[in-house]
Amino acid sequence: MNKFILYFFVCMLCCSCSSGVKRIGIQPYGDIDQKVIHSISEILKTSYNADIIILEKKELPKSAFVQIKSPRYRADSLLIDLLKIRPDSIDYVLGITSKDISTTKKNPDGSIKTPESKYSDWGIFGLGYRPGKSCVISTFRLKHKKPKIFESRIQKIAVHEIGHNLGLSHCDHNECVMQDAVETIHTVDSAGFELCDNCKYDMN
Ligand SMILES: [Zn+2]
Ligand SMILES: [Zn+2]
Repeated sequence: MNKFILYFFVCMLCCSCSSGVKRIGIQPYGDIDQKVIHSISEILKTSYNADIIILEKKELPKSAFVQIKSPRYRADSLLIDLLKIRPDSIDYVLGITSKDISTTKKNPDGSIKTPESKYSDWGIFGLGYRPGKSCVISTFRLKHKKPKIFESRIQKIAVHEIGHNLGLSHCDHNECVMQDAVETIHTVDSAGFELCDNCKYDMN
């Protein structure tokens, strides 16, 4: 009888450990430097206590391509593509591309921000559903001559977009990784790598 109780207790412990672990898939679009994939993998593992699965690379869907201001891929279309390829065994999927990605910037009432010529196809660092199961980031606008800064930008954007998938909104807290980039990379550079205590609380 004691043996049975002990066995049951061990099982319960195992179940409670594994059920809290998120499984995040990283989907490389085209050829992505292994160092970039490794950096994203490491930061997501530690930030979200996640198991990381690297998916087989695939090409960007042609249907997402636009040439309105410059050659870009619509991030909204990529989020849908990622949902389609997400295996059931994975909770969230993050796409990564070196190509420029864009979306339409809108006002809270749904109208396109003015001037429309600027915001109808707006180049971005990343986009993620809030909440949802897919997000995408692009290295195109994150480049820097110092590799360390380039790496930190990629990592912060990855943590930020998965944060949106987990339901987090933008945050005003100084240094929180969920700060809105407000159209400039400087905000990303001044942000920290971590969620503030409020965001951590909201996530649970
Ligand atoms: Zn955001
Ligand atoms: Zn925060």
